[in-house]
Amino acid sequence: MPFPFVYRVPRSIPDETLVALRMKMVQITTDLMKCKKEWVGPDFFRSALNDPTNPDEGCGTVLIKLETGLFDGRPDDDPQVQEVLKALTDAVWKAFGGKYEVEASVASWHPGWKFLRAPGQFDCRMPGCGGILSGETFPMQTGCHSYSPCRACTACGRVHSYDGDLMFGRAGHSPFLRDGEIELVLEPVDLASGKQYRTTSQLFIETGEDCKYDNLPKGKLLIFEHMDEETFCFTSSEEVGVGYRLHRGDVNFIEPI
Ligand SMILES: [Zn+2]
Repeated sequence: MPFPFVYRVPRSIPDETLVALRMKMVQITTDLMKCKKEWVGPDFFRSALNDPTNPDEGCGTVLIKLETGLFDGRPDDDPQVQEVLKALTDAVWKAFGGKYEVEASVASWHPGWKFLRAPGQFDCRMPGCGGILSGETFPMQTGCHSYSPCRACTACGRVHSYDGDLMFGRAGHSPFLRDGEIELVLEPVDLASGKQYRTTSQLFIETGEDCKYDNLPKGKLLIFEHMDEETFCFTSSEEVGVGYRLHRGDVNFIEPI
């Protein structure tokens, strides 16, 4: 039976976070190791001391040890072992806000069965990229006089926010960092008429034929109808006869259902 134990849990992590993480770890382990939920026994061991503040006090790395006999006899580079360790590492890393390095291994330190994720190491959000974001930030102009710290993907250059979300220009362009310069690319939009979409962020948009303005909350359901010159026309599945007009920039903040 698999027992994923998490050691060196920082003292600042509340019980509620660990309760939610326990369920997530049970799900991951049952999905990837093809076993019953009742078999999985995650547990957490809080650090007895506060986080180290300098290297003399050692590292703040969180350690996952997976105690199990189910991998007995597997080769060093067994893909299922790697997959389980990576998924558990990512779940703990995310639950602790990406602030701590997380290392996972199968108990007894089988040499090939290890996975490590450094703090602040976000995945690129571009579909199919698979790269990670740079640990270094750079300032990008986000308003007339304001700048925000951003991170670029080390593989494709796509610019993300400090917290790892995709950034967009005002007119909907996607910024890429290439050779130290920001390059703006307008990616094609492919919406299907009659298909339902959901807003992924609050949007301030035009509504109806007479162009009143409205705040659309995050999670609002919209049905794409047609293009009207440069604007994307939607209706609501909840309000009869109400239409919304989205500009190219707004369309980055909807997702198909
Ligand atoms: Zn990328």
